[in-house]
Amino acid sequence: MQIVQVARNAMATRFEIVLNGSNATMLRAAGEEALDEIARLESQLSLYRSTSEIARVNARAAFEPVRVTPLVFSLLKHARDLNVQCNGAFDVTIAPLVRCWGFMGGTGQPADPEQLAEARQCIGMSHVHFDDERYTIRFDREGVMLDLGAIGKGYAIDRAVDLLRDAGIESALVHGGTSTVYGIGKPLDNEVWNVAVANAFKPPDSDSIKLPTITLTDEALSVSAIWGRSFEKEGKTLGHVIDPRTGEPCQGAQLATVISKSATDSDALSTALLVLGPEGQIKLKHTFPELRTFIL
Ligand code: AMP
Ligand code: MG
Repeated sequence: MQIVQVARNAMATRFEIVLNGSNATMLRAAGEEALDEIARLESQLSLYRSTSEIARVNARAAFEPVRVTPLVFSLLKHARDLNVQCNGAFDVTIAPLVRCWGFMGGTGQPADPEQLAEARQCIGMSHVHFDDERYTIRFDREGVMLDLGAIGKGYAIDRAVDLLRDAGIESALVHGGTSTVYGIGKPLDNEVWNVAVANAFKPPDSDSIKLPTITLTDEALSVSAIWGRSFEKEGKTLGHVIDPRTGEPCQGAQLATVISKSATDSDALSTALLVLGPEGQIKLKHTFPELRTFIL
């Protein structure tokens, strides 16, 4: 048996794939093709790439309907469904608030109250209109802006996993920036993939906190946390995940993990769970009975 590892920087993070199988050349080719797909999706989905479909929608959709590819159209519709299923805690129209709090390319700063009030007017999927015949997106006011930062990596991992399976891969681990990881099949030496949550996220007193090791088989794990891109204010850590309902950096939990069959959903729902806090576990379990969740 051979083990091949491939990696690439994309979506402002590092994607890595470990592949197991009998033919190293085939494993490497399949891994590189999956990474190509992730890079391609970045060029389609990133709000920071001026030529991406999302950047085009953000620039034009307040003035005219903007046609997008079926892929982007259905991903945005899925994001709308998740928004409803999470009571508004996950919302891809979050971008004006992300900018207000200094998290668009930065590590955050207190928001100006006037700008915050203005930004809050632009939040909500009700501002985003879908034309199912023409595959167009339209905003009903200026200032609306989409940010797929909480779902894009998971979506890219799902598409990468599809390609790996199509190439005949039966054992692989794929992760993006350690925040979403998918285990295909099982590793060579075990019945499940064991994934430790701990090391990417370091709260100040991390030594005293026990984070779980999660087992995955044909499943995805996503972690969202307030550490990382964050700043301190009045003894509180204010992170880059924002509660769309209050306009403030979320305080419901410090870290949330979701395990799901879909990396797209685990990515979006771990962000939602961080916003919703402990009550969110019951709410999400009710809507998605198959989910496993952990919250700190
Ligand atoms: P994640 O690390 O997957 O939890 O995603 C966090 C990123 O998603 C942030 O850096 C923002 O770009 C964006 N974001 C922040 N808050 C929300 C929210 N409530 N719903 C959707 N996206 C969000
Ligand atoms: Mg997420």
